[in-house]
Order: sequence, then C-alpha cells, then structure tokens
Amino acid sequence: MKIGSRTAAVLVATLGACCLLATRAPRVFADQIPPKLVVMLVVDQMSAEYVEDFKGRWTGGFHRLVDRGAWFRKAAYPYMNTVTCVGHSTISTGALPGTHGMILNAWWDRTAGRSMACTEDPETRPVSYGGPIAGGGDSPWRLAVPTFTDELRAQKGEGPSILTFSLKPRSAVTLAGHAANAVTWLSDSGSWMTSSAYPGPVPFIADFVTAHPIEKDFGAVWTKVLREEDYSYKDDAEGEPAPQTWTRTFPHVLKGTSDHPDALFYLLWEQSPFSDAYLEKLAEAAADTQHLGQREATDYLGVSFSALDLVGHVFGPRSHEIQDMLARLDRTIGALLDHLDKVVGPDHYVVALTSDHGVAPIPEQLAREGRDAGRIDLSVIASRLEQALNASLGKGKYVSSVAFTDVYFEPGVYEQLLHKKEALKAAIDAIRSVPGVLQVFRGDELPALRSSKDRLQRAAALGYFPGRSGDLIVVPKPHWLLGSNAGTTHGTANDYDQRVPVILMGPGIKAGVYEQAASPADLAPTLASLVGIKLPKADGRVLQEAITAPMVPTPFGVRR
Ligand SMILES: [Zn+2]
Repeated sequence: MKIGSRTAAVLVATLGACCLLATRAPRVFADQIPPKLVVMLVVDQMSAEYVEDFKGRWTGGFHRLVDRGAWFRKAAYPYMNTVTCVGHSTISTGALPGTHGMILNAWWDRTAGRSMACTEDPETRPVSYGGPIAGGGDSPWRLAVPTFTDELRAQKGEGPSILTFSLKPRSAVTLAGHAANAVTWLSDSGSWMTSSAYPGPVPFIADFVTAHPIEKDFGAVWTKVLREEDYSYKDDAEGEPAPQTWTRTFPHVLKGTSDHPDALFYLLWEQSPFSDAYLEKLAEAAADTQHLGQREATDYLGVSFSALDLVGHVFGPRSHEIQDMLARLDRTIGALLDHLDKVVGPDHYVVALTSDHGVAPIPEQLAREGRDAGRIDLSVIASRLEQALNASLGKGKYVSSVAFTDVYFEPGVYEQLLHKKEALKAAIDAIRSVPGVLQVFRGDELPALRSSKDRLQRAAALGYFPGRSGDLIVVPKPHWLLGSNAGTTHGTANDYDQRVPVILMGPGIKAGVYEQAASPADLAPTLASLVGIKLPKADGRVLQEAITAPMVPTPFGVRR
C-alpha cells in the first residue's frame, strides 16, 4: 500500500490511539468470552417505522432479530445530515459527523474548487473483479477518526479478518475503515470492484464473481412475494417516477432497452431484491472460504444492503415495492443467519442491524391529503443568493456551490459578509424567501451550539465539521425535499429521516424491547465493549442495559 501524507497522518492517529490504549484496554477475563464474529448489517434507508408497521408480516431474519434481539425502538440519529456516507461513518466509528468529518455524500472541496464524493481518493486507483470500470479510486482517507475495525486491528493485532460488501463505495469503504482484508462494491457499469487502498483482487471474491455473473438475472421478473392482502396502500400511487421499461405496478422485468444487458439493466438489477440476494450469497462465501468466526480472533463481516434505498427514492415508503423488498430481505437475512448458525454457531457471533437514515413520504402524496409538502430547487437558492449579493456587493459571482443543505461561497466572500452585516442578512433573507425553506444557520456559529437546547440548532451543530461544511446551512420545512425533483429523498433532522432500527443479538446481549434513547452511534462502542477493545474517539455510549453482565469497574480495568 502506498502511504500518502494524509494516510500517514490517519495511521499515526490510529496507532497513537492503539499504543496509548495498549495499557488501558479492558482486561478480558476468563468469564468474558468475546464473540468470534461481529456481523454488521446495514439496510440503506430502513426507516424505524417499517419495523413497527410490517414486523407482523416477517418470519425470517428481521423477525428473529426483533424477537430474540435487543431492539431499541426509539433509536434515532441526533444530527441533520441523514445521508448514506454520514450514516455508515457514524455506524462504523461510533462518532458523529462533527467528529468523524464525513458531512454529506459529496460536498464542495474548497481547496480543489470542485465537488468531491466522500470516499473519492485521487491517490488510489480502482481495481476491478472483471469488467471495465471508469473513474478513480476510493478510500476512507477523509474519515477523521478510526473505525471499530481499525481499533480491532490496532488492539488485537493482525488476527481478525475484516470484510465488507455493498453496492456503494461510500457504504463498503466507510463501514470498513483503513484496516480490512477485502472491501467490495459495484461499479456503475455493473462490475464488482475495490481500490488500491485495500488488498485485491481477493481470490475468493474473484472466484465467486466469475461463478455468479450478474447477467444471469437478465430477464428475471420481480413479482410480489406476499399475499395481495398483506400490502398496505395501493400499488399504483401518485408521484412514483418508475424507471424506463418499468411501470408503477408489479411485475418488474429486469431488462433494459436492448436484448442484452445494458446500463439500464444494471441499474434495475441494483434496485431489485436480486442485488440483496447476491450480497447475501457473497457473505456466505466469505464466511465459508475465510472461516469467519472459526478461529481464535474476533472477525468482522459488514454487509450494507443498498437496494431498499434505490427503490425507496423512486417508489417511496408507502409503495408495494418497499413492502416487498422488506419481506424479501427478511428472508435473505434469515438465510444469512441460518448459514452463520451452521458454520459459526449461534452462540459465537453477535449481529447488529441498523440503517444509515430513514426517508420522507413522496410530497405529492402528502399534498393531495392537504398537507404542507413540496420540493425545493437548489438552483433557485443559488440564483436568489447571487441576486441579493449582486445588489449588496456589486456585480460578480459569489456562490461556488449549493451542495444539498450546505451553501459554499467563492473564496473570501463569507469573510467579507461577516464584516458587512446588512449584506449577510440580505443573503440569509434571500434563501429564506425560497418556498419550503424553514431556517438558515451560519456555519461559524454552529461549533458553539453542539449542546443547544434547540433541537434543530443542535442537530445542525452535531453535523458541522469546520473547513468542510458550508458557510451557510439550509434547513427545509418538514416534508419539503431539498434538491429532489421526483420520487423522494432523505437528509434532514425530521423524525422520518432520523429514526432507524438499532437491534443487537447474540451472546452477551439481553433480548427485549428497549425504550431508552439510543442512536446508531452507540453500536460501535457497544460492540467494542463486547470484544474488549476501546473506542477513544466515539461520541456514542455503550448500550449497557442490553448487555447481560454489566461492566464492573475493578482495580484492573473493567469486568463484565
Ligand atoms: Zn438515499
């Protein structure tokens, strides 16, 4: 691995933590047997509401987790930036975005003067498992703190096998961190890939991918798996922008516009239950070939199922497609747990289930019910701002980018505005004049507001990372979608975006329904406690109430 200066800085931070901790890490006593495998399951865009509403229809893995696990039914992210890269980074580090630094899926890089994806890394190159791939490489170099697995490796040595799989690089990479044996995702062109930041191509993945080409699913039909009466709402609903070759109703054929797999086929495959099923089989292959959980070390298997998010953006949370995806994922995750029972044994692995964010209902469906809902065009925010600043500061270009919630001014403009209070007020008023905008926060004021009593202020502050976040932060009204012109999205501090499942199951976990406040940031510290390592940079807490034998401080450290 090539070590760039940034990578070196992160490694120094990680190793520093390791060496400092070597003397402080909790002693593992004979009666504290760490799990041999930690399984982290992330279901992209799985709202907490889905568990409440649909659990009665589940019989597989979701059912087992809710029934036999510790279910924190009130769990929610405390911050505003409820999107994929941020959520996965929070899950893996136990830290909040104001600490781990992943503030959005992509933001305006002030130094480079362009938008950057959160895991984009010009110092790495893409590595393919077969087909052609375009673009550059990905790595977690922008993560400002180590992940659970980074600390596992630093504190437990080279023993643990660390593997993550997803369709998205921002999920697979951030879930793993720096120290991993294999980190795998899917390119836009339908090829499985990794980057030069990680080992690869890894033989067992190459073998699996060769033996199981995605193209085998060409022409497959996605039909409903439950009885018709088991679906809520209607299949043909307003505001569902079905992709080309699909309609708003079942069945959906996995076929693009030609007689062979084309770009549309790969897109449809990704937003279907077939991609979840593929990831599950890949995870089984990992457990088998890498003997996960069958050695002395504690291994880590992270799978982020992305399809629900892709389907949710198009069809919305009330769709039959979402309900069917969940019913099928219940079976898919059930199959994975059954397999792990066989090869690892149910008493030897701990599994966590959570999500990176929830989702808003489709605004047109709410508007029809007479609710205040709509869409905010980001280009309108930019043009009204330019207009206001041209009036107060003179003719020129002042806005670099409106990246979702974050407004970035051209270099020096915000500093100028801080000295011209009237012009700053005019700029903020211009944004507030856009229909659907609730509030605008000043970036420079947010670091001091992390403990604010005002829920929104606090949520914005917890997601603010100086230098990376915008000069101004735009807060939309509830049910108003920022930068989305069809279907739906997520990314706000509203309940529907913040509330997600947090469930733990396995040895050392006390089953039950927990009403205590919790967040996905608590998972990494809790898992760390179970395996006997420390996460010095975490903001989350150990979910002590769900651990069978609480940690007891002793003169030698802590003991469960
Ligand atoms: Zn999404």
